[in-house]
Order: sequence, then C-alpha cells, then structure tokens
Amino acid sequence: MAGKRVLIVGGVAGGATCAARLRRLDEDAEILVFDRGHYVSFANCGLPYYVGDVIQDETKLLIATPTLFRDRFNIEVRTCSEVVGIDREAQTITVRDLDKEREYTEGYDSLVLSPGAAPLRPAWPGIDLPGIFTLRTVPDSREIRNWIGATNPRKAVVVGAGFIGLEMAENLAHRGMSVTVVEMANQVMPPLDPEIAVYAAQQLGSKGVTLVLGDGVTAFEQTGAGGLIVRTQKGAAFEADLVVLAIGVRPEAQLAKDAGLEIGERGGIRVDSQMRTSDPRIWAVGDAVEVKNYVTCEWELVPLAGPANRQGRVAADAICGRDTKFRGVQGTAVCGFFGMTVAMTGATEKSLLRAGIGDFECVYLHPGHHVGYYPGAQAIHLKLLYRKTDGLLLGAQAAGEKGVERRIDVIAQAIQAKSTVFDLEESELCYAPQYGSGRDPVNFAGMIAANAVRGDVEFAPWRELDSTSAFLLDVREPEEFAAGAIAGSVNIPLGQLRSRIAELPSSKEIWVTCGVGQRAYYACRILARHGLHARDLSGGVQTYRVMYPHGRLQPS
Ligand SMILES: Cc1cc2nc3c(=O)[nH]c(=O)nc-3n(C[C@H](O)[C@H](O)[C@H](O)COP(=O)(O)OP(=O)(O)OC[C@H]3O[C@@H](n4cnc5c(N)ncnc54)[C@H](O)[C@@H]3O)c2cc1C
Repeated sequence: MAGKRVLIVGGVAGGATCAARLRRLDEDAEILVFDRGHYVSFANCGLPYYVGDVIQDETKLLIATPTLFRDRFNIEVRTCSEVVGIDREAQTITVRDLDKEREYTEGYDSLVLSPGAAPLRPAWPGIDLPGIFTLRTVPDSREIRNWIGATNPRKAVVVGAGFIGLEMAENLAHRGMSVTVVEMANQVMPPLDPEIAVYAAQQLGSKGVTLVLGDGVTAFEQTGAGGLIVRTQKGAAFEADLVVLAIGVRPEAQLAKDAGLEIGERGGIRVDSQMRTSDPRIWAVGDAVEVKNYVTCEWELVPLAGPANRQGRVAADAICGRDTKFRGVQGTAVCGFFGMTVAMTGATEKSLLRAGIGDFECVYLHPGHHVGYYPGAQAIHLKLLYRKTDGLLLGAQAAGEKGVERRIDVIAQAIQAKSTVFDLEESELCYAPQYGSGRDPVNFAGMIAANAVRGDVEFAPWRELDSTSAFLLDVREPEEFAAGAIAGSVNIPLGQLRSRIAELPSSKEIWVTCGVGQRAYYACRILARHGLHARDLSGGVQTYRVMYPHGRLQPS
C-alpha cells in the first residue's frame, strides 16, 4: 500500500525541518516541498553577514539543496513553485509554476504550511525608489551587495532598531558606510526593557552610529545627485545612498486565510499544541503562526528560527501519530553588533505588565563576565524577573561584551524547567578564571533574588525614586560619592555605618544604594538588625545611571 502523501508549503526553517523529520519517521510517505523562491533550506540568519562581506561565498548560505533532499531523504523539492490555493474539501493545493507560468493541482493526505513572514514595506511616498531594500531572502541580500558594488554608497540609513536592523547597521558600517538608525520607539530593540536596551544604544553611539529614537520615517525623496533623502515625522531629513527597512514582519497567512483556516488576533495562523490548524489535515509552523508565550500564556508572533525548527519537528511527529507537543515560546534571542551582545529570554517587565501580571519583582546586577583578577573582565548588565511570592523565574535580559549569551541560555533552560531563583542560587556552572567565577553571575542573580523572596532584604522600587520621601543613603566611599550620586542622598561609607547609625532616621524608610548593589545589601542587613526599615536599590548607581539618564544623578 502506498504511504501517505504530505505536501509542505515553504522549504526553509520550519518546512525543511518538518520534511526531514517526516522522512526519518516514515520511510513510505510521499513528501513534496514547494517553495516559490529559488532556494530552500537557506540561512536567513546569515544574510546580514553576507551583505557585510563577512560571509563572502553565497553558497555557504545554502544549507541543503533540492538534490540533497532527493538523494539523502527521498523528498521532492519544487522551487519557483508558489502555492496559490487550498481546496480543503478536495484536499488539494493549486501550485503556480513560476518558471513555466502554468498552474496545476496536487492532492494531499496532510498539508504543512511554513510560508514564513514578509518584511513590512509601508506605502510611504518614495518607497519604491532605487536604493531602498528589505532583507529576507538570498536574492534580497544579493541585490544589496550588487547595489553596494555598483554605487559605492557612503551613507546608509537603517529604518528600525530591532535585531535585524542592528545587525544590518553593523554590517553596513563594516562595508565602510556611515550609518544612521531611525527608530520610532524611544529605545533600541523594542522587545527589551529600556534599562537594558540603553547599553545597546550607548554601544552604537560609541561606534559612530547616529541613532535617532522616537521618530518615524514618513517618506523618501530622490536628490538630483541620485541619492536619497529620508524624511521623518518630526521633520528631520537624512541623506542616504542606501536604505534598509527593518521595521518588522507580518505573517504570510493569506493562503491560510483564503482557505478559511482560523487566524488569530495578531494575524498569525492559529494552531494547537501539535501545530494543527483549525483543519485537522493541515498543520502550520514557523513565523506564520501565533504561539503561546511560555511565561505569560499570551498569544504572540515570535519570528525566530529556533521555534520554527522545533515546530517543524512537532508537526512531523503529529502527522506520524506521535503525541509530541510544542511547549510554547520563551522568545529566547540574542543579537551581536559592534562587539556588544544583547540577549533575552522569557518575559520582560513590559510584557508582564501588558499581560496584567503584577506579582513579579526584578533585580539588577552588573558582575564581571569572569573573575576580576584575570585580565579582561567585562561587565554583564543583567536584569532578572521572578514571581515575588515564590521566586518562580519569569525572564532575564542582559547586555555586555562577553559571556552574555551563556548566562541567558542557562536561565532560559531554567525557565523552561519551571525553576526558581533558589535553583539559580544552586546552579553548578563551569568555572575557571578566564570563563567565570566560583559564584557565577547566574548564581549571583539567584542569590540576590532569593534573599528578597526569603525576606532577608527588601528592594526599593527604582521607578518611585522621584516621588519617594524615603531617606536616601549611599554607602560608597567618599571619593566614589563625590564622582556622582543620587541627588539628595547622604553618604555614610559602609565601614562607618555601625558607628554612625544614630545619624539615620528611625521614623522613615531608608533606601540604600552603592556602586552595583553588593554593599547596599550588606548595609541593609546591618540596618535591619538595628531595627531600621531599610530597602535596597538593586544594582546601585550603575542601574540608576541607565534608569534616570537625565535624572537626579549629579555631582554632590
Ligand atoms: C535577515 C534575517 C536574520 C535573521 N536572524 C535570525 C537570528 O539570528 N536568529 C533567529 O532565531 N532568527 C533569525 N531570523 C528569523 C528566522 O530566519 C525565521 O524565524 C525563520 O526562518 C522562520 O522560518 P519559517 O519556515 O517560518 O519561514 P522562512 O524561513 O521564511 O521560510 C518560508 C518560505 O516559504 C516560502 N513561501 C511563502 N509562501 C509561499 C507559497 N505560497 N508557496 C510556496 N512557497 C512559499 C518563502 O518563499 C520562504 O522560502 C532572521 C531572519 C532574517 C530575515
């Protein structure tokens, strides 16, 4: 008896993974993959580096070819083949052969949709002028490279300061261009909380990138000399020889919508935990689907390669009768540019508030990525979010030059395992002087948070600093205090605290700060033992500088 017939729309991250997994599970199935592009299984994530000439050989981006699929997996891949319709009743798809300009139908037992997402390209005046690009496919990146080769651009504008925008900023700078990044939000990397994103902004500035925040592009014009003018809402105008639009993507859900499949509120295809759509014979995976956030349980669009690959496997398992379930998406992501790494996993403060989750607390810390005595230690700026009542881990974000992604990966796995801050305290992580410290930043984050959950320390809310009537105590050394302190704070160095305790008010809360938080914690413990109500400003003046960049910090 012939095996089942599985058709897959889209042959890159989700589709290719699903096809290969299907073959491993079912030797008899007939598997056909359709992609409207010239390539399948290519490395979208490598495209910015191909533009930047870091990757020079285009073929390196092609992970698997149709020939490899045929020879190794007995899977038929049809490129330049756009699927333009689904007849659910008849269980057929209509395919347009883009080379031969003809249409035909194919029948299926199971259909998998992995059509990805399309870059946003709003109908702004001048959007179709030459020199304005988006980046999604190998031909897109080739076009940008060709433009660079032909016109030798000096000035580039990147619209959008998300992950792809910042990777493009670095790669265009690498090609010798002066780069301006225009971002509508008031911060770079909008999914992050602002006090971590600010480190990314500082790095861009220090590397010569002009960053325009809180302003949106409205139009493009051509100059007489053949260049472009990029106009913004606030009336600014930037010259550019090349523009890259990186303002996000929308799920390619039209095919599913036309077929009457359920579409979610965010515009993605709705699926169950086995990636099955509202039609039991059709599955959907990747950037085109809405996913449940693992922490907040909200429906979200999370266009990342890891989830697309995992979903492809889950769909293949389900088609083959296995009970594998997709666990949801944590949004674990990393981005590197100009020597800086920014990474995140799980919920942010923003996403928790958006989901109406108020039972959380966050701690800030700024440890070295390895011990201070070994040369080259770099600070990791880390924010950890956890449930206040029991310490369940909710999310983490970090920025720094080294060791960032390792810490976020550890916390990502801890979140998936539903671990707590107490588990991070006890994590046994590898250590030698050039890699970490006996108490790793992950342990530190756990310890600081666990101290709070146990009631050994109470954190003061940074965001209420401007309105508080608390007594502000700074326990750093006088020379540190003199170099810049929170306005209105009083300096009593930690070493003098016990002998000068009478100087502190017993009727008021005392909010304690130091350089990065450690001495403030020690001080809080001393004050608590003397019956005073002390609260720790987590992360110290280092956190204050990013929390209130134009705020109360002033030389005393
Ligand atoms: C420049 C760039 C950098 C990225 N960097 C990272 C990164 O560093 N880390 C990360 O996690 N993620 C990254 N991503 C995101 C990641 O590439 C995507 O999340 C992932 O590729 C999604 O897989 P997918 O299968 O859903 O869609 P895709 O990989 O986009 O594949 C969809 C395919 O379907 C085809 N298709 C669509 N409609 C049809 C149709 N009707 N008929 C036939 N074919 C069709 C498309 O042509 C396309 O080839 C990056 C993306 C880009 C563009």
